[in-house]
Amino acid sequence: MRSAAWAVIDLDALKFNLQKVKHFAPDSKVMAVIKSNGYGHGICEVAGALKAADAFAVARVDEAVKLREAGFEQRIAVLEGFSDIDELSLHYQFKLEPIIYTDQQLLLLEKNRSQTLSHCWLKIDTGMHRLGIDPELFQAFYERISQLSAVSVMTHLACADELEHSATRLQMELFNRVTKNCPAEKSVANSAAIMEWPELNVEWVRPGIMLYGVSPFSGKFGEEHGLKPVMSLHSKLISIKNVKRGEAVGYGGNYLCNNDCRVGVAAIGYGDGLPRQIKSGTWILLNGKKVRIIGRVSMDMITIDLTEQPEAEVGDVCQLWGKGVPVENIAESADTIGYTLLCGVTRRVQMIYQGKS
Ligand SMILES: *Cc1c(COP(=O)(O)O)cnc(C)c1O
Repeated sequence: MRSAAWAVIDLDALKFNLQKVKHFAPDSKVMAVIKSNGYGHGICEVAGALKAADAFAVARVDEAVKLREAGFEQRIAVLEGFSDIDELSLHYQFKLEPIIYTDQQLLLLEKNRSQTLSHCWLKIDTGMHRLGIDPELFQAFYERISQLSAVSVMTHLACADELEHSATRLQMELFNRVTKNCPAEKSVANSAAIMEWPELNVEWVRPGIMLYGVSPFSGKFGEEHGLKPVMSLHSKLISIKNVKRGEAVGYGGNYLCNNDCRVGVAAIGYGDGLPRQIKSGTWILLNGKKVRIIGRVSMDMITIDLTEQPEAEVGDVCQLWGKGVPVENIAESADTIGYTLLCGVTRRVQMIYQGKS
C-alpha cells in the first residue's frame, strides 16, 4: 500500500547530474558527497546510482560502515574523520579514509602506528574556521602524516555560493601558497565552486547538492544549470470543502478567505518534513497545474486554495517539489535552502526508486 506522502527518486537523474559534474570539471576525479542519508534520498540507493564516481564522501563513520555493509567497495572519505579510538578502529577495519583536522587525531594515529590507513585527507583551514588545521602547521602535519599513510590535501570554502564575495579568492590564494610545494593530490571545490570557479577544479572535486539537481546559489534553480531534480515529493487530496468569504482556514485562523473558496486538504505536513514556515500563497502543483498553499502547515496536512481548479477531486495528486516545481522555491518561502528540505524528509514518507541503479 502506498503511503499518503511519497517521494519518487529518479536514479537516472542522479547519473545525469554526475555526468554534468564531469562536464564542469572534466579533468578532476569526483568524490560524490552522499552524507546525511544521501541528502535525504537514501544513501545506499544513491551510492548504487553513483557507482561511476571515483569515491564517496560521508560525514560520519557509521554512514561509511553502512555503505561497506551494503557491499560498496569504492573509496570512502569520512568528512568528520574519527575522534576516538573506536572510530579510528572502524577506519582501519573498513578501509575508510578519514579527514584529519586536529592534532588529537594525529597523535591517535601515531599511537596506533602498527595499523595502517588505506589513505587519509589532511584538511587545512583557509578561512572558514570550522574544521581544518592552521595553515602554518601544514608542513609539519604533512610530514608526520606522510610517515603513517598515503595522504591527500583539502580545504573547504565558506562562501563559494556568493559570487561577489572576496573570501573565496583569499581562501584559494592561501591554499595555493601553503600547498605550493606539496606533491599530494588536492581537493577544494563543492558544487558552487565546481560550477562557478573552474580554477578550483583541481585533482578532486566534491559535489553534493548539484548531484541531486538543486542549485547552491540563492535565487537560482538547478534546471538553470542544466541539472535534473532527483526527488519529487507528492501527496494526495483527502478532503475538499467550501469555505465562505471572510472565514479563516487552519491553525491560528490567520488566513482569511478573500472570496468564497474551495479548500483542498492534502495529506502532508511538517511530520513529513514540509517546513512549517512556508508562507500562505506558496505555489505547488495539483494535477500538474499551479495551486497555492493557504494557512499554516500542520503536522500531517496542508490546506490549498482550489478556486482555480474546480474540477479537482479527492485522491488527486499534488507535488510539493521536484520536476516543474523547484524545491528552491518552497525553500525560499520557508526562509531556508533546498539542502534542508531534502535532508529533512522524514521516515514516514515512502521512498519510491525509479530508473536503473
Ligand atoms: C557537504 C560538503 C560538500 C558538498 O557541498 P555541496 O554544497 O552540497 O556541493 C563538500 N565538501 C565538504 C567538506 C562538505 O562538508
